[in-house]
Amino acid sequence: MTLAETPNYKNSSNPFLTLNYESALESLGDDYYDEVAAAEFPQHILRWRNDALLPRLGLDPQAVTDEDFIIAFGKFQGRKPLLALRYHGYQFGEYNRQLGDGRGFLYGQVRASDGELYDFGTKGSGRTPYSRGGDGMLTLKGGVREVLAAEALHYLGVRTSRCLTMIETGLSLWRGDEPSPTRSSVMVRMSNSHIRFGTFERLHYLQRPDLTKKLLDHVIEQYYSHLSAQQDKYVLFYAELVERFAKLAAQWMAAGFCHAVLNTDNMSITGESFDYGPYAFIPTYDPYFTAAYFDYYRRYCYSHQPSICKLNLEMLQEPLKAFIDKGDLEAGLASFDEHYYAEYSSLMLRKIGFEQLPHLEANELVNLTVEFLQDSQVGYHQFFYEMARTFSSKWRDEPGFVLNNSDIVPVPGASAIFDNWCILYHKILNGLDCDRIDVIAQTLAEQNPKTVLLRPVIESTWEAIAQEDNWQPFYELVKQIQSRH
Ligand code: AMP
Ligand code: MG
Repeated sequence: MTLAETPNYKNSSNPFLTLNYESALESLGDDYYDEVAAAEFPQHILRWRNDALLPRLGLDPQAVTDEDFIIAFGKFQGRKPLLALRYHGYQFGEYNRQLGDGRGFLYGQVRASDGELYDFGTKGSGRTPYSRGGDGMLTLKGGVREVLAAEALHYLGVRTSRCLTMIETGLSLWRGDEPSPTRSSVMVRMSNSHIRFGTFERLHYLQRPDLTKKLLDHVIEQYYSHLSAQQDKYVLFYAELVERFAKLAAQWMAAGFCHAVLNTDNMSITGESFDYGPYAFIPTYDPYFTAAYFDYYRRYCYSHQPSICKLNLEMLQEPLKAFIDKGDLEAGLASFDEHYYAEYSSLMLRKIGFEQLPHLEANELVNLTVEFLQDSQVGYHQFFYEMARTFSSKWRDEPGFVLNNSDIVPVPGASAIFDNWCILYHKILNGLDCDRIDVIAQTLAEQNPKTVLLRPVIESTWEAIAQEDNWQPFYELVKQIQSRH
């Protein structure tokens, strides 16, 4: 049955069913997906609606009821086909062909008011041909954690998918990594695309260059449309993908974020960050901080993120090499480091208060800051927040005034580097015009919110839900994140 033939679709008063759906992926043909049915749940309790996203869909939040969310994204009424996407991927370095949407599907693709095509992808909506031994479900805590991660990252300037809604579904689930039985949810993610590196890897594995080319053309047409008319569009696409991932890795690093599972099935072909499982924001600057308890060899630890992205991009060359010369692929990948360092440096500089500084000075300051954070083990986010909170024009007068009213206390072994940092910061401020001071204060405040999604913050928010079904701390936390407090 096509969408137009689906009962109630045309006459629906549910605003989610009358959006501008396009069947971009569906029209590629069924080599890329399987049609699936959604699970039926015993309960539907709307726990989260992301009203901030509705205007982008051309919807007025006031005009959308909770029931509209539940009908569309908890009961999945009125939309067909629901497509479980096929993909493979390298998981912790091992090729896995038993992947694919095992607990989700593509609910639909919508042309939003910004002109972009967005996927609504579910997580926790039931079993599919790719579920293997899994139950096809998402825990409520998993849903809460992904909502929080996506919002936090978005407001920290990371290019990320967002969660449109999360609905509690009334099942009891058993998980090894949560006290069980544990509650269930279904979440709908709004992302640029759910096409992954692993989608290409599967087609290469199946030795189907024809399907790879069709997908590549589709990706360029939809997500790199400015390249569509170029003669060397494939070469330019790969170079731009490298640039997008270099920037994304820099954004994660500056945000102090460890994604935790950078398998190639979690790498979006649009260069957008998505799929938040065991992620964590780093408490202190520890290059080897590892967020997933099952990442025994620290493969996806905090500081490995740029090199892992690069490695995944290199592995993506396999399916692409039928269409792009080896030299062009190598040249594309070789630009990763330059893009990465330029972006990281600029983001870190902004966290320290500066939009721009002369190159050498910028490098010196960023390097010394990172060195200090690593040596002192002062809280990564605390340091920047304290800068924002206590910044004063007095810091221009003497190095001793820099951060002197803050809660930053360097550990004994780090006092020399802290002093050096204060001296350098004072020197830079001192060389600037007075009228730059207000701009620095503003930049510091904008870049370094007080609310940080550290693990204890998430855990205490979750405990209120788990123990008393109290959702207030969760809503408060999202509100603080969204208002950049
Ligand atoms: P993830 O770790 O969420 O990126 O998932 C990796 C793979 O495992 C994907 O193919 C998922 O669809 C699948 N998967 C994860 N959890 C479940 C589950 N509870 N039931 C079925 N499949 C799952
Ligand atoms: Mg995944």
